[in-house]
Amino acid sequence: PTPSKARKDRRDVPDKPGSADHEPLFAICGRPNVGKSTLFNKLTETRRSIVGDEPGITRDRIYGEVRWMGRAARIVDTGGMVPDDEALIPSEIHRQARVALDEADVIVMVVDGRTELASPDYDLAKFLLRGGKPVMLAVNKIDTQQMTAAAENYRRLGFKTIFPISSEHSLGIGDLLDAVFEALPIVEAPVDEVTAASEVEAAEEDERNLHRTHGEFEQFETKVAIIGRPNVGKSTLLNALTGTSRAIVSPIAGTTRDAVDEVIDYQGSRFRIVDTAGIRRKGKTHEMAEKLSVVMARRHLEAADVALLVIDAQEGVTAADATIGGYAHESGRSIVIVINKWDLVTTARTDGKPPADKDVFEEQVRHALKYLHYAPLIFISASRGNNLKKVLEVTDHVAKERRKRVTTGQMNRFLEQVDFQRAGVPMAQKIRIYYMTQAAVAPPTFILFANRLVKLHFSFERFLENQVRAAFGFEGSPIWFKVRARN
Ligand code: GDP
Ligand code: GDP
Repeated sequence: PTPSKARKDRRDVPDKPGSADHEPLFAICGRPNVGKSTLFNKLTETRRSIVGDEPGITRDRIYGEVRWMGRAARIVDTGGMVPDDEALIPSEIHRQARVALDEADVIVMVVDGRTELASPDYDLAKFLLRGGKPVMLAVNKIDTQQMTAAAENYRRLGFKTIFPISSEHSLGIGDLLDAVFEALPIVEAPVDEVTAASEVEAAEEDERNLHRTHGEFEQFETKVAIIGRPNVGKSTLLNALTGTSRAIVSPIAGTTRDAVDEVIDYQGSRFRIVDTAGIRRKGKTHEMAEKLSVVMARRHLEAADVALLVIDAQEGVTAADATIGGYAHESGRSIVIVINKWDLVTTARTDGKPPADKDVFEEQVRHALKYLHYAPLIFISASRGNNLKKVLEVTDHVAKERRKRVTTGQMNRFLEQVDFQRAGVPMAQKIRIYYMTQAAVAPPTFILFANRLVKLHFSFERFLENQVRAAFGFEGSPIWFKVRARN
C-alpha cells in the first residue's frame, strides 16, 4: 500500500517496522567513554533493539527507536560497532564516522565535557563537518549549571551549535532532540499498533522527562526535615551533619521567613535542611516541648521532600513518635526512620536490659509504625558520628525514588502481568482496571482507569501498592492511587 493508504487503514500495514529508507535515522558517534551508551539508553529507554553480530563487527551494532513529540526516528550508536580498544585508532574513528555519514540523516557527535579535547576529537569533528549532513555536538557529563560555561570550550571543534547535556541526569536532552528532529526529514512512517491516545500521553511524558534544563535541575536540591520528639537527638544530628565531617562541604546559611536553612553538598547532591532554628527550639516544660515538637514536625513537613524521623533507641517507639510518624505518612513526604543513640543500647546497659539486636529492634519499630513499611530504617549515633554518611546516602536515594516516573508503556506491560485474582477483594468491591498512568511524582501518584468509580478496597490498594513497589521501587515514598471511571 502507498503510505497514505497505509495511514488510513492500519490493518494493511505489514508487521515489519518501517524499512530503513523510510524511517529517518540519526547516529551518535564519539570516542569511548564519553557516554554514548548512556545517552542511547536514555533516548530509547525500553524500546531498544539489538541487531545481531555482523561480520567484522565485534560488539553488537546497536539500533533503537526514539520517539519525540509525536514523531519517531531510528537511532544508531556507531560506537557500538567498534571494539573499545580499537576505537582510539584513527582509522576506526573514520570507519565509525563513515558509517554514520552513509547511513544517517543527522549525526550527533558526543564528547566528554570533563576531559580535555584530544586530536581524535578534532579529526572526527573535521571529518563529520565535511560530510555535508547536518551534524551537531553534544557535550556530555555537564551535570550542573556551573559546568555549562565549560562546555563553551568545545566550540573549538567548529560546530555551530553545541548542546551541553547530562545523559545521566537527563539534562538538556530535550533541546538536543528538538534540534535533531528539526533536521530530520519528515516521512510518513507507518503507524504501529499503539493507540493515538497513549501516543499523546507518551509524548507528554517524554517532554516532562527529557525537556528538563540545567536550571530546573538545580532546583532539585533535596529539602530535608528533621522531625521527632524532644531529646531524641535532632539538634545533635543536625550539628553532626553540618559539622566538621570531611566528606561534607560548604554548609551555607540561607533565610526563608524567620527560619534558617542549612545546605549540605555531599557527593554531587545538595540537601537543604529546612528551618534549623525550629529544630533547635526547645519548649520550657516537657509537656510544652512535646507539643511544640508535633507542631514543628507538621511545619517542617510542609517545606520538605524527605523527613528524617528520629527515634531514641533507648526509649523505643512512643505514642508521640507514632503521632509524628502518622503526620509524616499523610503528608506524602518520603521518610527515613533514623534510630538514634544506638551506642547506648548495644553495650552493657544501665537499666540492666541485654544489648539490643538490630533485627529484633527493627521488627519492633516496624510493628509500631506499620504504615511506614516503605521507609528505610537506619541505626546511628549522632553524638559519636556513627553512620552519618549513610543518612545522606539513603536520603539521596529516597529523594530520587520519589521523583521517579514510570512511563505509561511500562505501566501497561506491568499491569498485564499482575494477577489481580490474588488481591482477595470482596466480590461487591471488585473493579476492572483498564489502564493505569503515573500522573505525578513526589509522591508518585497513579490514576487507575477502571470500569466504575469506587473507593479502592483496603486490601486491593495494599496489594496493588506492593506489586508496584516490587516492580518499580519507590523506596521511602508513599504511593497514592486515584480512581477514575471510564466506560
Ligand atoms: P560510551 O563508551 O561512549 O558508550 O560511554 P558510556 O555510556 O559507557 O559511559 C562511560 C562512563 O561515563 C560511564 O561510567 C557513565 O556512567 C558515565 N557517564 C555517562 N553519561 C554521564 C553524564 O551525563 N554525567 C556523568 N557524570 N557521567 C556520565
Ligand atoms: P533534640 O531535642 O531532639 O534536638 O535532642 P538533642 O540533640 O538536644 O539531644 C538530646 C540529648 O541526647 C543530648 O544530651 C545529646 O547529647 C544526647 N544525644 C544525642 N544523640 C546522641 C547519641 O547518638 N548518643 C548518645 N549517647 N547521646 C545522644
